[in-house]
Amino acid sequence: MMMTHKSPVRILVLDDEPFMLKLLAHMLAAHGYTQVTTCDNGQGALDLIDAADYATDLILCDLNMPEMDGIEFARKLVERRYSGSLIWVSGEDDRVLQTAETLMRAHRVTVLGRLQKPPTAQGLAALLEQWTPPKRARSSAASRTYAVAEVRAAIARGELVNWYQPQVVVGTGEVVGVETLVRWQHPVDGLVYPDAFIGVAEAHGLIKDLTRVVLAAAVAQLREWRAAGLELRVAVNVSMDDLVFLDFPDFVAGQTAAAGVLPKDVILEVTESQLMLDARAPLEILTRLRLKRFGLSIDDFGTGHSSLVQLRDIPFDELKVDRSFVHGAWANDTLRAIFEASLRLGQQLNMVTVAEGVEDQADWDFLRCSGCQLAQGYFIARPMPAAELPGWLASWRERMQGYREA
Ligand code: C2E
Ligand code: CA
Ligand code: CA
Repeated sequence: MMMTHKSPVRILVLDDEPFMLKLLAHMLAAHGYTQVTTCDNGQGALDLIDAADYATDLILCDLNMPEMDGIEFARKLVERRYSGSLIWVSGEDDRVLQTAETLMRAHRVTVLGRLQKPPTAQGLAALLEQWTPPKRARSSAASRTYAVAEVRAAIARGELVNWYQPQVVVGTGEVVGVETLVRWQHPVDGLVYPDAFIGVAEAHGLIKDLTRVVLAAAVAQLREWRAAGLELRVAVNVSMDDLVFLDFPDFVAGQTAAAGVLPKDVILEVTESQLMLDARAPLEILTRLRLKRFGLSIDDFGTGHSSLVQLRDIPFDELKVDRSFVHGAWANDTLRAIFEASLRLGQQLNMVTVAEGVEDQADWDFLRCSGCQLAQGYFIARPMPAAELPGWLASWRERMQGYREA
C-alpha cells in the first residue's frame, strides 16, 4: 500500500495485479492526482474505507479479481453509502463492462465510465475530464489548500480559468445561461478546484482581485457567445467579502458596459459564507446592483448560510436551492419537503427558482413535476471550458429531441 499527500482529491485504485496498480497511480500522478491509495484486494479496500480517518472521492476498480470481484466489492460500497465516483477498469469485453456500469447506476453510484485494459493515458484523461470532485467543507483539514503567496501569484499570472456549467429551463430543456465556476490551471498540480483556494483568497484579502478576474473574463465570454448568436446569460459567484467594497457596483457596471453586455444578462450569486457582522455595506452594494438591473441570486438556499434573514433584507430575484436538497429528493421525504418548501417560498416572492445538483434521470424526472423553473447539474452537463459549450449545445439538443420523441 502506498500513500502520498498532495492534491486535495483522494483516489483509491483497486486491482489484483501489482503492475496495474503502479501504472494507474503513475497515470493519475501525471494528471496532478497524487493522493492515491492502492490496494490489491477488495476486503483490504473495504477495511480502509471503514477506517474512520479515510475518505475517498473516486475509486478505480478492476472487475475481475480472485477473492472478491468488482461487482461484489461495489455492492459492499453501496452498503457503506459510498458517495464518491467509480471507474471500472477491466479486460472484460465491453458488454460486461457496460452491464457493470448499468448495475452501479441502479445502485445510484456515480460511474464516470469504463477503462478498457490495457488503460491508456488518453482514455483515463477523457474520464477524469468530465469529473468534478465533490465539494467539501472549506476548512476540511483533509483537503489540501494553498498558501496565500501561491494563490496571489496564480491570480497575478493569469492561471485562473473560468469553466461554465449550463442552466436549462426544466419544462422545455431550453438553455438559458451558464454559471461561472473558477478553476486554477496549476503548472504542477493540474486542474485545481475552487474549494482549495477560494477560502484562502477570502481569508487573506485576495478575493477582490479574484472576483474581478473571474467577472471580467465571464462578461467578455458572454459577449463572444452573444456575438455568435447564443442568447445566454452568465452567473458569477460573488463572495460576501466582495461586498465590503463600496465601489463594487461601479466596477461590475463598468466591466459589463465595457464588454457591451446588458446588466440583466449578468447574475451575481451570493452565499452568506460567514456571519455578517455589519450588514450595511452588503445591503447598500446589493441594492445598488439591483437598481442597475443586475440579477441577484441567493445561492445554496436552505443550508443555513443563505437564510431567511437575507431573503427579507436583500432584493434577490433568483433562488437557488442547494444541491443537498435536490439530488435524491424524489426518494427521500425529508429532502423533498425542504426542497418543495424552498421552491414555494421562491415562487411566492416572485423569484426565479433554480435547482442545482440535478445529477441523474431520476432527479430530472422529479424536477419536471415540481414546478421549479431552471435546472443545473451533472445530468445536464458538468462544468466545462468555454470552447466546449457549442459542442455540448448540439448534443443537448439531440438529447432533448430524443426525449420528445420517446
Ligand atoms: P456553488 O456555487 O454551489 O457551485 C456549484 C458546485 O457544484 C460546483 O462545484 C459544481 O461543479 C458542482 N456541481 C454542479 N452540478 C453538480 C451535480 O449534479 N452534483 C454535484 N455533486 N455537484 C455538482 P465547484 O466548481 O467545485 O465549485 C465549488 C464552489 O466554489 C462553488 O459552489 C462556489 O461556492 C465556489 N466558487 C466557484 N467559483 C467561484 C468564484 O469565481 N468565486 C467565488 N467567490 N466562489 C466560487
Ligand atoms: Ca453558485
Ligand atoms: Ca450552490
